[in-house]
Amino acid sequence: MSNAERAFRFAIDRLNSPPYSNGSRLVPDTRYVARNDSFEATKTVCRQLSKGVAAVFGPNSRESSETIASVCNSMDMPLVETRWDYRERGSMVTSINLHPNNRQISRAIRDVVYYYRWSAITIVYQDDSALTRLQEVLRASAPRKIKLTIYKLPTNPDVRTLLKEIKTSGARHIIIDCRSEMLYPLLEQIMEVQMLRSYYHFLFTSMDVTMLNMSRYSGDGVNLTTFHLYDRESAVFHRIVAEWRARFKRSETNPMERGLTLESALMYDAVHVMAKGLLAMSVGRNMTVQSMACFHGDQKKSWDDGRSFYNYLKSVELREGLTGHVAFDTHGERDRPKLFISELSDVHGMEQRGYWNYDDGVYLRPKDKELIVNNASVINRTLIVTTIIELPYVMKKDRDADGELLVGNARYYGYCIDMLESISKHVGFQYEIVEVDDNNYGSPMEDGSWNGMVGKLMTRKADLAVAPLTITYSREQVVDFSKPYMHLGITILYRAPEPQNPGVFSFLNPLSFDVWLYVVIAFFLVSITLFLLARFSPYEWYNSHPCNPAFDEVANQFNLTNCLWFAFGGLMQQGSEVNPRAFSTRVLSGFWWFFSLILVSSYTANLAAFLTVERMVSPISSADDLAKQTEIEYGTRSGGSTETFFRRSNIPTYQTMYEFMSARPHVFSKTYDEGIERVLNSKNYAFLLESTTAEYRISQHCSNLTLIGGLLNSRGYGIGTPLQSGIRDEITKAILILQEDDTLLKLKDKWWKTSNCQSTINQKEDASELGVKNIGGIFLVLISGLVAGVMAAVAEFVWKSRQNANLDRKSLCGEMMAELRFACRCNKRRNSQPVIEHKYIPATAFPTASINGQAIQMTETVA
Ligand code: ASP
Repeated sequence: MSNAERAFRFAIDRLNSPPYSNGSRLVPDTRYVARNDSFEATKTVCRQLSKGVAAVFGPNSRESSETIASVCNSMDMPLVETRWDYRERGSMVTSINLHPNNRQISRAIRDVVYYYRWSAITIVYQDDSALTRLQEVLRASAPRKIKLTIYKLPTNPDVRTLLKEIKTSGARHIIIDCRSEMLYPLLEQIMEVQMLRSYYHFLFTSMDVTMLNMSRYSGDGVNLTTFHLYDRESAVFHRIVAEWRARFKRSETNPMERGLTLESALMYDAVHVMAKGLLAMSVGRNMTVQSMACFHGDQKKSWDDGRSFYNYLKSVELREGLTGHVAFDTHGERDRPKLFISELSDVHGMEQRGYWNYDDGVYLRPKDKELIVNNASVINRTLIVTTIIELPYVMKKDRDADGELLVGNARYYGYCIDMLESISKHVGFQYEIVEVDDNNYGSPMEDGSWNGMVGKLMTRKADLAVAPLTITYSREQVVDFSKPYMHLGITILYRAPEPQNPGVFSFLNPLSFDVWLYVVIAFFLVSITLFLLARFSPYEWYNSHPCNPAFDEVANQFNLTNCLWFAFGGLMQQGSEVNPRAFSTRVLSGFWWFFSLILVSSYTANLAAFLTVERMVSPISSADDLAKQTEIEYGTRSGGSTETFFRRSNIPTYQTMYEFMSARPHVFSKTYDEGIERVLNSKNYAFLLESTTAEYRISQHCSNLTLIGGLLNSRGYGIGTPLQSGIRDEITKAILILQEDDTLLKLKDKWWKTSNCQSTINQKEDASELGVKNIGGIFLVLISGLVAGVMAAVAEFVWKSRQNANLDRKSLCGEMMAELRFACRCNKRRNSQPVIEHKYIPATAFPTASINGQAIQMTETVA
């Protein structure tokens, strides 16, 4: 008995028995016809029609179905079909079809492809007609730039050769369209060729996949998606499946016999649709079935109630059918069916995750704890770890300290190896280290595949990449990365410049040119200000013959040359014979001395630094300098993220640099060692590499290499895993633990601080000249000293003028004018001049002069 017949009888028996029976009785009559024999099909259906039937349930083969449909159509006999039909239906039919139509299925497949954002798909099909089911995907490939590879299953049931070919092509996203009976053998062979792994994602268009015992294929994390019409989470489904199982003892040997296939589920619903239609039509009217002859003389005879029954059937709606909500459109096609989507989970076999419908497209609820389960599957086996020999991350030795030959993982050591060991302990996996054969990190090739460690992960030849592998956007598209375990940036490695001859005028170096200039200006400014203050301040004038109080000459020691000498003596911290007497000049002198003290101390301190440091002058100091010149060549390691950084950069400097490099392919080196050798051996080559590696190399060749400028970008090294391998999150957690308990920090110290160069590097830090920004403050102090001195001088001048004005009984203004005239006079001696007849007591004279009431001749003497 076929599945369809089983379901047919099962449904009829169910409807005939309480509580579903409604008095009338349905009688099944089943006939088998040969697939391609339309004559026999016609004969069989005519024989059945002559018995008087209410509806015909169509066969599943297309050829006989077409014949039967045309007979039924000509006799207005409703035909209930449950088969996939790739053709558009005509309007002159009296059939309804419970199977979703081709447009709907094709669109569902396309929407799933869009949902998963597949950009390269391999299609494997069995029947040519299947391609119509995939027509929407085929159509979308050009506008969506989806790369399609199409294979046809061989007629021979052994498809292993084809599967191996697909495997070696690196295909990941595979749509399989095959007959239901092919599902089991195909899955078995897919498992045999080890394609049921997390790298692959299969989409089966057959809606019978969920009927197989799929838990057998779980475990290795393969992604497998399929559609089905019944809601496997609904109570109706479980009830009917339980009844079905109870009724038919399911054979375990034939996997397709285990449950209700799509064909049987549709047949089950078809019978219910027919029963509901009959019930609706029989309300208020007497419906009779009549015996019909296909040919009645020349006249075909049709069923009187046929058309109206057909219309009743089209308007039937099963809210909770076994295949979901069942309703029909005006053409008798299934109206807006909901296709449920199941995915293979690692524990439960197929797990229903969502649905597709015409209006909303695909909806999938997020996967629950699957990743953790996935991890278990990954962790149970020995992981292949791809790596690359790179100092000090991964290094290799063949013998240990005692000369014993080393094998396997023991041959490798270094930062990454220590880290891998710690991670494996945290996550709990075994591993085997395999060096990448092409010695590349990973960059895309012309055919879209990747080389290096990234390529190994993509083709699942490795489960982890533990190496200084930079996390980049383009790599992240094809593999997964853990969180970064180390942060770095691209930097410029250059030969350390030769120490420079300091030169005879190196004593000038501690202060910048600006500062020297300002010191000279300050010197003259202070000298002149002092001269002026001394002239205007009355307290700077004194009796040049103090033993003779009657002597009528006053003197002022601050003439211009003395001022210059005084300022110079102060600056040189030597002092001079000349000393200020007035408050104003003392204020100015104090500030000048303070200025000199700070300046000289700063100069002395910086001079000491200059004398102990060898001056290194490099012809380049940044990437801009490199980009601007062509004399010094520069390059990167080829096939790595550093080269890709320059190739893809939008920054003009880096674009210029890449143009320079790409025009001279010899500047690229195959390994870091090669690049560093070139830097060491040539004066005109700079190597662009990652800062952490550069730091290590400098510590190894400390006197010969140096870093130029800062970091050009910021990036990180991560551990690579194949896409969705499931172990990535566990690795990330382990890295975070190692970061937080300082293990990674200790490892960095262990592998980087292997020489004393670090201290040498620090000592070599250049002493730099002091500029205005360093010691500009003392100039400000000096200026405030000048201002304070001027203000004090004005105060002294006014104060003395006021005293003299009282003595002379003159107005203050007149006195001040006289004083001013006196101060501005430039002649040196005036004692030869006749005594001024009016009594004039200069503000600058000492008090005895005025007390005696003598006219005093004022004189300026040169000290
Ligand atoms: N670590 C780099 C990478 O992952 C190598 C480089 O290009 O500097 O590609």
